[in-house]
Amino acid sequence: MYFLSELEHKLLLNKILPQARQVGVSPELRGWNWHQPPLKPYYDDVKVPMYAVCSKYCPTSRDVFLNQVEKAKPILNEKVTLGKILHGVVSDVLLGFIDRSEIDFEEWWSKIRWEGMYGDRDLLKKRAKQLWDYVLIVCKTHYITHSAIQPYSSERDLYASSIPFLIEHKISGELLGLSGLLSIDCYDYLKCIMFDLKVDDKQEDWHRLFPVGYAIVFESVHEVPVDVCCVIYVSFIRDKLVIKKDLFFANNELRSWWLEERDKKLQIIALRKDPGIPNQCPEDCIYYKFCRGE
Ligand code: SF4
Repeated sequence: MYFLSELEHKLLLNKILPQARQVGVSPELRGWNWHQPPLKPYYDDVKVPMYAVCSKYCPTSRDVFLNQVEKAKPILNEKVTLGKILHGVVSDVLLGFIDRSEIDFEEWWSKIRWEGMYGDRDLLKKRAKQLWDYVLIVCKTHYITHSAIQPYSSERDLYASSIPFLIEHKISGELLGLSGLLSIDCYDYLKCIMFDLKVDDKQEDWHRLFPVGYAIVFESVHEVPVDVCCVIYVSFIRDKLVIKKDLFFANNELRSWWLEERDKKLQIIALRKDPGIPNQCPEDCIYYKFCRGE
């Protein structure tokens, strides 16, 4: 899942890292400079969730107003339900493997809470199992490969070096005006890559804002630079699991875009300003009924 292929590794070593070292990141856009502009949040008493900052799903950001000001509860659809379930699959399989406490899929499935979730449960279960098997096999392969070349390593070291990931790492985004305890999908602590998982077959530029936002937060708390980010796309084509990666340098432009979005959304909440309804809305928007009433 979060392991790089040989080709992606070449891209990292020969293109992204040299670019990051040559171009660099402006000091004022590093997370550890959260106490001064432009990172310092303009409003002290207003907080915004990370998903609200990064999502550009709603063209006018009315979803932020509805959720954060009007406290409207979204109506989930099958796509969102699949996303929630598959995020759970990836994190639970990886955490189980790292903790050496492998979980049984059927037992895991039986514990899902279905309130507010929607979709064909047989199909959702099939998709979850496909991804479950994939993540588990990839983890085992990496562990065995490392074990074969490092026979004198301790078990602890083998796990730490073959699966070098912080999964669902809890971190506070308060210093940057974000609300609640954030949960990072994955951070590779050997390659210093911030990952974000998307269950989607369509790549969008703004998807990059999620790992970039987490990278800035990570820098603000741990004071280490995070120059490389990656969006992992999980989808299914002709019943087959497809995994794609968008690996990139978290440059000044993306960091400034993230800040622009954070400030815009903090302002919507602080001023309780309804940004209005655009001419066209995606029909699977989870606030469609609130805005369009159809
Ligand atoms: S229905 Fe339209 S205006 Fe309302 S939140 Fe969704 S995209 Fe935005």
